[in-house]
Amino acid sequence: MSDKPLDLRGRRVLVVGLARSGIAAARLAATRGARVRATDRRVASELASLAELTGAGIELALGGHDPADFTSADLVVVSPGVPLALPEIQAARRKGVPVWGEIELAWRLLPRPVPAVGITGTNGKSTTTALCGLLFQKDRRAFVGGNLGTPLSEPVLAGRDVDVLVLELSSFQLEGIESFRPRVAACLNLTPDHLDRYRDMDDYAAAKARLFGKQEPADFAIANARDPRSLALAGGSRAERFTFGFGPPEPCSVRDPSGGADLVFTPALGEPERYAVRSRALRGRHNRENAMAALLCARLLEVPAQKVQAGLDEFPGLPHRLELVREHLGVEWVNDSKATNVDSTAVGLAAFPAGRPSVFLILGGRGKGAPYTPLRELFPGRVKALLTIGEDAEAVERDLGDLVPTERAGTLASAVVRAAASATSGDVVLLSPACASYDQFRNYEERGEAFRRLAAELP
Ligand code: ADP
Repeated sequence: MSDKPLDLRGRRVLVVGLARSGIAAARLAATRGARVRATDRRVASELASLAELTGAGIELALGGHDPADFTSADLVVVSPGVPLALPEIQAARRKGVPVWGEIELAWRLLPRPVPAVGITGTNGKSTTTALCGLLFQKDRRAFVGGNLGTPLSEPVLAGRDVDVLVLELSSFQLEGIESFRPRVAACLNLTPDHLDRYRDMDDYAAAKARLFGKQEPADFAIANARDPRSLALAGGSRAERFTFGFGPPEPCSVRDPSGGADLVFTPALGEPERYAVRSRALRGRHNRENAMAALLCARLLEVPAQKVQAGLDEFPGLPHRLELVREHLGVEWVNDSKATNVDSTAVGLAAFPAGRPSVFLILGGRGKGAPYTPLRELFPGRVKALLTIGEDAEAVERDLGDLVPTERAGTLASAVVRAAASATSGDVVLLSPACASYDQFRNYEERGEAFRRLAAELP
């Protein structure tokens, strides 16, 4: 929350982009007395229900934007899906109209100052935010949302009183913050992504850097010790810096000394603390990193150690990310449908220990043109059989089919039947497709749900 309360009474606020956060922002501004217009390139039939908006006296401008709405506004609130490079937004900026994201608006309208934890990065944001939120919820009233699940405007609109905000923030959302100052800011990692929207990596990193921009020395900045870009971003903060990563314990850090035993949190002052990672929802090195980041945020804001450990043990994981959907006849059925590219599948596959090949891997769907060969090195000692599905089956087989027994299953249903027929106790059936789902499903969620249902129905 900023120093000055924001008074929107009678102000003209234009909300651009009417997905869930835009709708919440428009309603929030309207309840605070603003004259709100809401605009979207899409027409009404392509948008979710807008009845709440018209009911709140909000004017709609759909099917395109009217440039005059932007330059005549007192404030423009932009949804994360809308690029700030839009000519109308640029024109508003040139006229001196403030342009904020939904987070900034909600932050300024909080009923009282509340500490915030802001979590960003290229990968692992949702998992880390959900886990971190659970750790805080063991101890106090925490709102968990932002890019994940519920937009911040919703609890503010509902007048929900909370003690802490745990927010997942995408780079698009960070572009729209001005005064937002997280008590704890964490950048998990930074690898090339969204380069369709950013000119280059520096431009993308500059968006992420905004998370740290308003921090003060009493705040905390968290970086991944193995990621130079994340370190550089946190290093630019005025806050006290903590890191997480693999290696021997050191002050102001959480470390995983052995990649299997306890994590060690070493505060700036005081004794080191140890935490076990036992939840199967946190398998894999990537999830150990997510756990380190989450526990660091929680401990820095004084969630008691026993509650942190209890939360780590209870974390159920998020759907479609190495989600154990069934254990049947000693076989684990694991839904990693969120893995829509080769990098994510590599991360998912690496979470299973190399030793005895036990994974029936289901791969394929709508390919993204990248080779599957980076997965080759993960096959030995892990993958027992490969089942291909969807449009890109042939390419998958060409890149990987010589390594293990490979079958073209065609559909997910057929892959599940074939895997069930061959898998024996101790094996894992892993849907981690490395492809988009659009050739056979509406989205990765629908694909994951189909896998869950098919696994549940096995006799
Ligand atoms: P995000 O919200 O950033 O997309 P998620 O928590 O939803 O992240 O995880 C998405 C995918 O990213 C996972 O399925 C996994 O493949 C990969 N992933 C998760 N955490 C990490 C991490 N710490 N480092 C690298 N990759 C990760």
